[in-house]
Amino acid sequence: MDRAAATRAEAAPPRIATRAVFLTRSTRLHPAAQRDTDDLRFMGEALRVAEHARRDGDVPVGAVVVMDGRIVGLGRNRREVDADPAGHAEIVALRQACRALGRWRVDGATLYVTLEPCPMCAGALVNARVARLVYGADDPKAGAARSLFRLCDDPRLNHRMDVTAGVMAEPCGAILQTFFKRARERGRTAGAH
Ligand code: ZN
Repeated sequence: MDRAAATRAEAAPPRIATRAVFLTRSTRLHPAAQRDTDDLRFMGEALRVAEHARRDGDVPVGAVVVMDGRIVGLGRNRREVDADPAGHAEIVALRQACRALGRWRVDGATLYVTLEPCPMCAGALVNARVARLVYGADDPKAGAARSLFRLCDDPRLNHRMDVTAGVMAEPCGAILQTFFKRARERGRTAGAH
């Protein structure tokens, strides 16, 4: 998909979802084009989940685990609401997927997350044997897939996965920027009284 087509697809996620339902994988779309379409659709779901975190005062990060073209786990950052340092979106989504599948390995699964995973989550993805990671915005302060470390495809570890970065990076980053901007504004207001 070229850049203009990608932009149009991002602007109209519901239409993409409808097309994905009606076009069969083998006859209508090249596998690479199908993968791009799936990536936009599932990252859209992860963004939707991230929105729930924002409403509860948690940093808005969302994740979905996809197996054979269907969502088997879904999670958003719950650190504040659960007072849990491990309550990141990826861990929540992985736990749900593992419960649904009845096993701790999710071989063949793709995990979509709106923000580059931190070292804890990247480690969990390796341990769960996730096949592919797709993330939205880079995290220059804690990212462990590309930015600070490369835990997801380090040849010294016993498992490696494909990594696709920057899918819908703009909306994934924008929801975080808006969240932190409002938090700073609230902080300033509170500090003035
Ligand atoms: Zn994390």
